[in-house]
Amino acid sequence: MFTANLLPRADTGAKRTLLFALIVGGTIFAASLFGIFTRPIGFLAAVWPANAVLLGLMVRYQAFASPAGWLAAFVGYFAADITTGSDLITTAWLSAANMAGAMTGYLLFKLLPEEDRKLRRSISVLYVFAICCLASLASAVTGGGAARMLFGRDFADGLAFWAVSELVNYLIVVPIWLTFPGLQTLRQQWAPFAKLNRDNLMHAAPCLALLISVVAGSAVGGPGTLAFPIPALLWCALTYSMFTTTVLTMALSTWLLISLPADMIPFAHLPNPLRLLDSIRLGVALMALGPLTVASTNAARRELIERLMHQANHDSLTGALSRRALMEHSEACLGELARGTHDASLLMLDIDHFKRVNDRLGHAAGDKALTEFFRLVSAELREDDLFGRTGGEEFAVLLPRTDLIEATGVAERIRAAIEAAKITVPSGERLRMTVSIGVTAQTASDVKDIDDLLLAADRALYEAKAAGRNTVRVGARAARDAA
Ligand code: GH3
Ligand code: MG
Ligand code: MG
Repeated sequence: MFTANLLPRADTGAKRTLLFALIVGGTIFAASLFGIFTRPIGFLAAVWPANAVLLGLMVRYQAFASPAGWLAAFVGYFAADITTGSDLITTAWLSAANMAGAMTGYLLFKLLPEEDRKLRRSISVLYVFAICCLASLASAVTGGGAARMLFGRDFADGLAFWAVSELVNYLIVVPIWLTFPGLQTLRQQWAPFAKLNRDNLMHAAPCLALLISVVAGSAVGGPGTLAFPIPALLWCALTYSMFTTTVLTMALSTWLLISLPADMIPFAHLPNPLRLLDSIRLGVALMALGPLTVASTNAARRELIERLMHQANHDSLTGALSRRALMEHSEACLGELARGTHDASLLMLDIDHFKRVNDRLGHAAGDKALTEFFRLVSAELREDDLFGRTGGEEFAVLLPRTDLIEATGVAERIRAAIEAAKITVPSGERLRMTVSIGVTAQTASDVKDIDDLLLAADRALYEAKAAGRNTVRVGARAARDAA
């Protein structure tokens, strides 16, 4: 699969179009060959992923969906059939039917909002299901006649078989394309599966349960086998990401599609065993909708909670931690550091004469100055430093594993960066600011709580202001400790 940044680089224009067309054509050629070589002789293929691959590719990476890309897909279908011995008319008819399905699906997907296309809302799975139904129908109507003419199947049966096959393939393959998060995110998501320790084993438990239920299902046998893995699959959907769930669902559905028909041999004497087979395959594909809906509902809920948590813990103007979040995180961090006998330092920052900025340039300029101040200070900090806004133009930074001397160095660096910066405010005017900073520290032998540290840093800040501003002062008690 490709991600946007993995797409091969090509010069813009004709070269790029040609390259993308080659990728589409080659992919469809290969996927069609797979379908052809796995299909029963003299019959339409039951496993035909090419149309679903084409639909997913075009919806996910719209750069491929140019007229040249679609033409290349047609050539891919055509070439696969013609080189494997089909006659010209059959090949053209089947290729047109395949294209009709994927193109209908593509056009319908374009009507969906982006968040539904990525299965980010609870209802998204049903929209995708509806599109897959319509795309399958378009393919079946275009190609249904071929089933009758070429393979001697009754027209209604041919239509049903075609529509069911398409739907099964779409439902299994398309969600994978829609939820693929990119290789980098995937590497992070799947990292726990690579190293087996106790935590990671717990993480893999739903996956193992799925495997066990499939094995148990095979051992017991019979039509009920279909439902055996559902509890484990729901557990997976509640635990893993959307993409992981779609991959597991695909693996399970494929396994069931391969293994279930063998169970149907006792029914072979029934008047229409093939219709029974269609019914089973449709059942497998529809079963997959349950876990997918659970996974997307869960993902939507997780995203909402994350957004709300972010809003609750961050200042809406600058994006710094809120005072409450800073206090909570700092308290936890200080406790942990003290247990590990590590130092920690606290900086208290207050922008000098900030009232004048508002008075002279207006409140909007003041707001811009505050966000720029946050950005400039953040650039001087490490990833795990805690940076919060404690009041209007007052901020605090907790520096874990940093002694007083290092913290004073950081403070001096921040002071100099603010002094050197020129900030452009919305009116276009350029503004310079300075900051006063109070520094204090907790050492392993003198553990303080966050209130003590804030008080000591505030006192040092007061001294910095008194000393003429644009300066760094170290808290009296902490200074004595350091000496
Ligand atoms: P000092 O050097 O003594 O710190 O002087 P100062 O003017 O910075 O201090 P003072 O506490 O007198 O004024 C702080 C000002 O910060 C007052 C208020 O208008 C401004 N302020 C506080 N919060 C915001 C805000 O969210 N946006 C804007 N634009 N201004 C703010
Ligand atoms: Mg101030
Ligand atoms: Mg102030």
